[in-house]
Amino acid sequence: MKKVVLITGGSRGIGAASAIQLARQGYQVAVNYKSNHAAAAQVVAQIRAQGGIADSFAADICDEAQVIQLCEDIKSQLGPISHLVNNAGVLATQMRVEDMTAERINQMLCANVTPYFICAREVLKQIRAYHQVDKCAIVNVSSAASYLGSANEYVDYAAAKGAIDSFTRGLSLELASDGIRVNCVRPGCIYTDIHADGGEPDRVDRLASYLPLQRGGKPEEVANAITWLLSEQASYATGTFIDLAGGK
Ligand code: NAP
Repeated sequence: MKKVVLITGGSRGIGAASAIQLARQGYQVAVNYKSNHAAAAQVVAQIRAQGGIADSFAADICDEAQVIQLCEDIKSQLGPISHLVNNAGVLATQMRVEDMTAERINQMLCANVTPYFICAREVLKQIRAYHQVDKCAIVNVSSAASYLGSANEYVDYAAAKGAIDSFTRGLSLELASDGIRVNCVRPGCIYTDIHADGGEPDRVDRLASYLPLQRGGKPEEVANAITWLLSEQASYATGTFIDLAGGK
């Protein structure tokens, strides 16, 4: 079976590392991004230079119509999608709950929760129409924030990731009898650009010594788990979580 994977937010950080690893495993990779075309083009070029197949696809996954169009475009250009890495996520400036507006909280929930549902829905349509379903799989990228709570930083983001944990369990149970596996990774402090969005680009360095492993993580270390969970090697795993948080 031809394996076509959609990685939301595949242009940078954990998504980019996953795109490169999955291409090495023989997946044709759809690198989704929102606006940073240069970063997406660089990931695609790296995959092609290694002999892999990839294309970049601009789409704001917070917009349902754009997700529908994205999945259609991938089907036309690479073939029907068989695997999904629900990865794109955003942070907002660090603040305490007492200072949060409804607008900000809603924005965090809309940006980090709803797109995972909509992307899964659209990919599942293609899985059911074109693939042997029990060869297909989904990995959701949640966060250690879901069980740590992100106090004094972004409890709204942590709550959104808690929703992704519930989504993982629920969707995995809905799809288990079809053999479609749904699993989740929960990264901790990983060296990517996302911390700048929270207002603290060097956050990982600040927290590294407090972690049991006493260092931040690399995007590739999360990509390793995503690649395994997506693969047939993980054929008896569904509804499970791998925490990549340096022992937290
Ligand atoms: P990142 O380096 O900031 O990259 C974010 C990626 O998501 C980029 O490719 C970006 O596209 C894309 N993106 C953002 N909003 C989008 C939208 N509305 N539509 C389409 N693409 C969008 O992020 P990261 O640190 O790798 O995080 C990836 C996932 O891991 C997120 O779910 C995050 O919550 C989770 N996570 C990260 C950490 C960490 O320490 N880094 C820890 C726990 C969990 P552009 O390039 O176009 O902007």
